[in-house]
Amino acid sequence: MSVVADPSDEPQPLTIPLLLRRGLALRCPLCGSGGLFRHWFTIVERCPRCGFRLERIEGHWLGALGMNTTVSFAAVLVAVIVGVALTYPDGSTTAAVIGIVATAIIVPLLFFPVSKTLWSAIDLAMRPLEPEDDVDPRWIPPASRHEA
Ligand SMILES: [Zn+2]
Repeated sequence: MSVVADPSDEPQPLTIPLLLRRGLALRCPLCGSGGLFRHWFTIVERCPRCGFRLERIEGHWLGALGMNTTVSFAAVLVAVIVGVALTYPDGSTTAAVIGIVATAIIVPLLFFPVSKTLWSAIDLAMRPLEPEDDVDPRWIPPASRHEA
């Protein structure tokens, strides 16, 4: 994936919708840059543009794991409901089971990278930037700049 900038290359106030949009689009929550994944399952340590450390604390990815689990279980629930609705009472339960199992395998794999960037965005919404985050100062958003 290449590094693609937001339309504006200026730091924007980090509103919740902006953070969620960036998280869902696999972008850095702080600057909006792409290029955060080496492979589908391998996220870089820091954003290539602003230097934001994506794993801010030890255990950070537990939130992404929880989110991926929740989304996957919800998808499986939907697959079960759809499978039962389509096959009840005389349909092929084999087809329903295949659909449910496929959902249980595919959804967590597809959602994996989104869960990481989305969790990083949610984390940044809950825990604003701190000096230890050590980001490029040009990307510190206006709302969280400290007066000297
Ligand atoms: Zn960034």
